[in-house]
Amino acid sequence: MRGLNDYGVSNMTDDEFAECQGCGSSVPIDECIDEGGLVLCEDCYFDRHQKIKACDPWGVRSKKLLRAQAGLEGTEGLTEVQKNIYEFVSFRVGATPREIAEKFGLSAREVENQFAILRHCELLKGEMREGTLYVVPFER
Ligand SMILES: [Zn+2]
Repeated sequence: MRGLNDYGVSNMTDDEFAECQGCGSSVPIDECIDEGGLVLCEDCYFDRHQKIKACDPWGVRSKKLLRAQAGLEGTEGLTEVQKNIYEFVSFRVGATPREIAEKFGLSAREVENQFAILRHCELLKGEMREGTLYVVPFER
């Protein structure tokens, strides 16, 4: 007969951990946050949300609808850097995060954060080209 302890131990297998898709560290399942199908550790989750909140005057809900209500189109309401990245990517019809980083003197992390916001506004999206990630215009 198995005691309660056995259950405790048998539960402590590697499926108690998940890989954070933000930073790649392994996170205990009960500390993971499911962000629209993306598994994130608390750090990455709050990091993302703080950054988006800080740069995002409309909040994360119904972004598109709120922009429409505010009469904002395209790149209106974005920061200079975000507009520049959007214009650069549109002009080139796709650029790698590295090219964007070099062009604007940003760190990889900053490019990622700016991209998250631009993607949120449905201005840019990621696309794999021959195994390389490109940032491309959302609608073409
Ligand atoms: Zn993480």
